[in-house]
Amino acid sequence: MAKASLPNARDSRDQDQFLTILSRDEATARFEAALFPRQLTTEPRRLADALGCALARDVLAPIDVPPFDRANVDGFAVRSVDLASATETTLVRLMLNDEVIACGVAPVRPVLSGTATSIATGGPVPRGADAVVMVEHTQPSGTRAIEVRRAASPGQFVSYAGSDIARGEALLHAGTIIGSREIGMLAACGIAEMPVVRRPRVAVISTGDELVQPGEPLRPAEIYDTNGAIVAAAIRENGGDAIFVGAVPDDEEQLEAAMRKALETSDMLVLSGGTSKGAGDVSHHIISRLGKPGLIAHGVALKPGKPLCLAVCNHKPVVILPGFPTSAMFTFHDMIVPVLRRMAGLPPRSDAKVTAKVPVRIASELGRTEFVMVSLVEGEAGLIAYPSGKGSGAITSFAQADGFLRIDALADQMPAGTATEVTLFTPHVRVPDLVIIGSHCTGLDLVTTSLAHAGMTVRSIAVGSLGGLAAAKRSECDLAPIHLFDEKTESYNTPFLGAGLELVPGWRRMQGIVFRRDDRRFDGLSAQEAVRTAVADPACIMVNRNQGAGTRILIDRLLGEARPDGYWNQPRSHNAVAAAVAQHRADWGMTIAPVADAYHLGFIPLAEEHYDFALVVARKDRFAVQAFLAVLASQEARAALEKAGFRPA
Ligand code: AMP
Ligand code: MG
Repeated sequence: MAKASLPNARDSRDQDQFLTILSRDEATARFEAALFPRQLTTEPRRLADALGCALARDVLAPIDVPPFDRANVDGFAVRSVDLASATETTLVRLMLNDEVIACGVAPVRPVLSGTATSIATGGPVPRGADAVVMVEHTQPSGTRAIEVRRAASPGQFVSYAGSDIARGEALLHAGTIIGSREIGMLAACGIAEMPVVRRPRVAVISTGDELVQPGEPLRPAEIYDTNGAIVAAAIRENGGDAIFVGAVPDDEEQLEAAMRKALETSDMLVLSGGTSKGAGDVSHHIISRLGKPGLIAHGVALKPGKPLCLAVCNHKPVVILPGFPTSAMFTFHDMIVPVLRRMAGLPPRSDAKVTAKVPVRIASELGRTEFVMVSLVEGEAGLIAYPSGKGSGAITSFAQADGFLRIDALADQMPAGTATEVTLFTPHVRVPDLVIIGSHCTGLDLVTTSLAHAGMTVRSIAVGSLGGLAAAKRSECDLAPIHLFDEKTESYNTPFLGAGLELVPGWRRMQGIVFRRDDRRFDGLSAQEAVRTAVADPACIMVNRNQGAGTRILIDRLLGEARPDGYWNQPRSHNAVAAAVAQHRADWGMTIAPVADAYHLGFIPLAEEHYDFALVVARKDRFAVQAFLAVLASQEARAALEKAGFRPA
């Protein structure tokens, strides 16, 4: 269905300037209109390989199941009229016919009046017989006869031919998704092969000069290709056969060759990266040459996922997902999965939804439908949805969330306290045993790991010390890890606790100056001397920390009025400081000892920071909280913390 009004009619220079950004609904509508209705491709599939496929045609039962009248118990095939007078006290004697009908044995002798034939469960009822008596209701009478203690009604313990499935009956309808139960029905009818909707073959290409496949070593400035693996897996989850081509550099010629080759043998092409109009972003130019109608949307008012590119080339969908893995996954699930499932003959996904309240205001960009990943915890009056703090470049924000909420394109925020619908990633809300909200520390994992090993689920949400404290005051968590320095009292944490909270001492983290071990400028200096030396050397670049970090307070005290080069580089984590120094982007900074160690950096200790827990007293008696406190106090945890460079309190 070619549409003259679609962008393919324009020349490729026009396509360069980002087509009008479409709303999510408009983009979906245009994309689907260009693809559907379409003929589904079908193929025969063996029973053993049919799991999860959509049946392409109605299947009629070719035989009766069971195929013959079948005994349901071990016993004797009889004529019910013979036993009309049988009771516990008046036994009826029947002569035994000279055959035993085991399973798989076709009877040859009829059951005549006054006789019975020995029959096993599953054996075919012989001619003349109309009922089966259980062996338990009989006793031998010599070797050639039995005595029966009960009357039998006609049809007793007999499954009639076709009583389960009747020949000619509609067994399964077209569109049915073949699961184990359907496979059982097909097998019972002897059907070894059936027509199914062929799984769409979806070629997957990652683009970017910086991409390396998992398993290969990472060189400077390179990152692992996340999208290739995650997109391929999501395609399989939604009824497609993913063919991962690999990562192709941002080179127009190479990419075009790879895209053409992939399209030849597949029904759909999914690329990721290269959509943000950077110098190396070339894939959307190529699309205009691949077939009609071509580009349908380049830019969708969706967050995350604005640089999404939708195209149809010769009836095949061609999609370029944004490069950031989380954006890629959101756009894939929101806009590509419905199309893929339709092509696979599968029904739309049915996602579970719950209502939850947001504890904080969530700002949102006006004009874009925004999806916000959330972790769910149980508050006092229902579920609370914590927005994930990490941006769309963070793969963990997707993997660790329970689901997402949606902020309408016309809203510029979702106010704190709003009750909203959350679409779950899993079919059920996973209510964790223990909820920890606050500042994250690698030491915390050492403690919670043993709870996880004991079968408890721990949800840890990193929102920083102040965010954790607020959550604890609202009783949304069990524990809030905090490291807040009070300048007035020159002490940690205790001054910040309010009513209903109690301090559980955690551990101490030594803060200090990091530098590369081969940098002689810092040899043998104290922290104060090191900073003085660094500030005096214009070639020495620092890396700072964000405003509000405990570490930043220490740095500011050491620096006084000085603003050396690098002061405005203010990352938000201990690890980022160490990485900057290790990779020569800076020469010194302040971080904690275990992190300095992990990056093989030199370390000059300065002061200990207290990483403690604000415990919500009302939740103290909960089993998981007690388990946490026990682990925290245990010798094993203390030893593990010490080994990692922390000092248990
Ligand atoms: P791009 O759209 O190519 O400009 O990419 C945007 C961001 O996503 C950049 O930081 C890329 O390094 C990153 N990115 C692109 N492709 C991938 C991928 N396959 N796996 C992980 N990150 C990627
Ligand atoms: Mg790129």
